[in-house]
Amino acid sequence: MTGKSTKGAYTRRNVSSDPENELSSVISSAQELLRWEETLGGSGFPTSAAALPAQASAGLAGEPGGDQDLHARLQVLTKEAAECTRCELHRGRTKSVFARGTPDTDLVFVGEGPGFHEDQQGLPFVGRAGQLLDRMIAAMGYDRDGVYICNVVKCRPPENRTPLPTEATACAHFLIPQLELVQPKAIVALGRCAAENLRCVPPAGKWRGIWGEWRAIPVMPTYHPAFLLRSPQFKKPVWEDLQEVLRVLNRELPKRAR
Ligand code: URA
Repeated sequence: MTGKSTKGAYTRRNVSSDPENELSSVISSAQELLRWEETLGGSGFPTSAAALPAQASAGLAGEPGGDQDLHARLQVLTKEAAECTRCELHRGRTKSVFARGTPDTDLVFVGEGPGFHEDQQGLPFVGRAGQLLDRMIAAMGYDRDGVYICNVVKCRPPENRTPLPTEATACAHFLIPQLELVQPKAIVALGRCAAENLRCVPPAGKWRGIWGEWRAIPVMPTYHPAFLLRSPQFKKPVWEDLQEVLRVLNRELPKRAR
């Protein structure tokens, strides 16, 4: 996680010609990584491919036959999520909320979990925060349905509370293959919960606007639209983050937004 530039270009750590120095640098990177993992309290995602549901993990996008089956595999996961009882959140759900938009995209947004309206409709970000997110997406020059939008957890937490680490870990069973299948060129983590669960929150201090990485995909952590509804003064830094994302995607800023 070190050696990453906030400009989105990933720089390699300087490799020393002295093997002892190199070894100590590798050890200190590993220790740094471990400290980071501990700071996250083990609440992130399992990293092994064994975490993928069998049907969904066979022939991931990028492997032979994977692309043709992308939609079918996501359908399998959607159905599985609708019947999932892996954590207690299933008890309160009206509908599970898997995703909206298109998996044929270079850009994915990951939120926290469904709220009241999402739980009723079975679609993510359809309430007030969703309307703001749609405006943010339009400002970036995308169609509302030209990106892929999902959440850390697929069932609504009671009183819209933040998902517990155990719930997020249980639901990683869906989020990991979802992101692996879509394989976007960039992910926007909406809010600290999403950023933490994509392991993109540094141990201390600032997290918003700092590029992270999820399985080699650049992740831009930014504020959640629901927070922006309460604190609109933070729209400006979020817009700066989204412009950074456009830069990494090599997309022009739409004329009206310049
Ligand atoms: N907030 C989220 O994080 N996700 C939704 O789907 C809706 C609101």
